[in-house]
Amino acid sequence: MPDNIVKDPIENKILNILRDVPDFPKPGIMFKDITPILSSPKLFSETIDALTNLVQKYQPNCIAGIEARGFLFGTPIASKLQLPFIPIRKPGKLPWKKKSVSYSLEYGEATIEVHEDALDFVEGKPKVAVIDDLLATGGTTEASCKLIKQINGEVVVAAYVLELGFLTGRQIIEEHAAVESLATVS
Ligand code: AMP
Repeated sequence: MPDNIVKDPIENKILNILRDVPDFPKPGIMFKDITPILSSPKLFSETIDALTNLVQKYQPNCIAGIEARGFLFGTPIASKLQLPFIPIRKPGKLPWKKKSVSYSLEYGEATIEVHEDALDFVEGKPKVAVIDDLLATGGTTEASCKLIKQINGEVVVAAYVLELGFLTGRQIIEEHAAVESLATVS
């Protein structure tokens, strides 16, 4: 984004408070630490309100959160909108019958799981909003879209606090659903 475009106030607040941690969890990665948002009750509320507004436009009837930081932002949104929340989790964490999707990471593979009856609690045709803290390559969200499809749901929007605009995550996810974020690092 050119410097002369004034950013949304919430975007500025988020970008100013995030902590950059170089070489975490491995060399070459600049980790965007969202915990300072959680430490600021006012900004956390503003972030949840703003994300809720973005998500509401797509009229979902279910909120899904991606483990683990997607739970922090997804559950308050589900509560505010009075919608069911479904957790998308790492392998071996969910206790009931599950579906799973494996996907490629930069190095190796990852798997995510969801309860196979998770959408049975949704009234009507399931229209799901997927929430995570950050969109990077899009691999995790794309796998989540496939997982939701396996249990007969449709992802209508994927929403994030932060988007790494220099990666191709947005283009990948836009093939499955709308993409929204509160702040973009370019
Ligand atoms: P991706 O599948 O590449 O879009 O990565 C998404 C997941 O990895 C999200 O759940 C993020 O929390 C985490 N992640 C990826 N890159 C970063 C980063 N630079 N800083 C913080 N979290 C990251």
